[in-house]
Amino acid sequence: MPHIATGDLFREAVELGTPLGLQAQRHMDAGELVPDELAVELVLERVRRPDAALGFVLDGVPRTVAQAEALDAALAALGRPLQRVVHLDVPRKEILERIARRATLGHRTDDRADVVEHRLGVYLAVTAPLIDDYRSNGVLVSIDGVGTVDEVAGRVEQALA
Ligand code: AMP
Repeated sequence: MPHIATGDLFREAVELGTPLGLQAQRHMDAGELVPDELAVELVLERVRRPDAALGFVLDGVPRTVAQAEALDAALAALGRPLQRVVHLDVPRKEILERIARRATLGHRTDDRADVVEHRLGVYLAVTAPLIDDYRSNGVLVSIDGVGTVDEVAGRVEQALA
């Protein structure tokens, strides 16, 4: 199954200098979300490609209630609703440590401490409420995201089994 990560797709568009990339970049560099329509369009276009015919994993999307509503409606219309939503639960302190480690590799311009702080604020304000929404739909699985990569991957596999 293809792993469809909107952040990766946006970063690719920025690198290629496409119109989408040019639009996304200023939001990303500020630690803000890219407009909902762009994120939803990107996912739907990707999900329609043949390699996603047997299934797909979304990563980093939906990030807002509006994205969730638009995606859920579009995927339901395609007869392919989300079957599971995996919530990786990681304490704030650990998140900050991980991003600080990633920042030393210099892969991302939005891993600067002040931008990270802002991204976490946006997450709490507009993304975290989705956890309860998906829990009440019965599709949410919340797993402990602290551990080695293998340990957490094992928990994800169990959650999807
Ligand atoms: P990520 O790689 O998931 O941390 O995403 C990096 C950045 O890309 C985010 O801070 C947003 O600016 C943008 N982004 C990724 N996914 C979305 C999304 N679903 N909706 C809006 N913006 C997004």
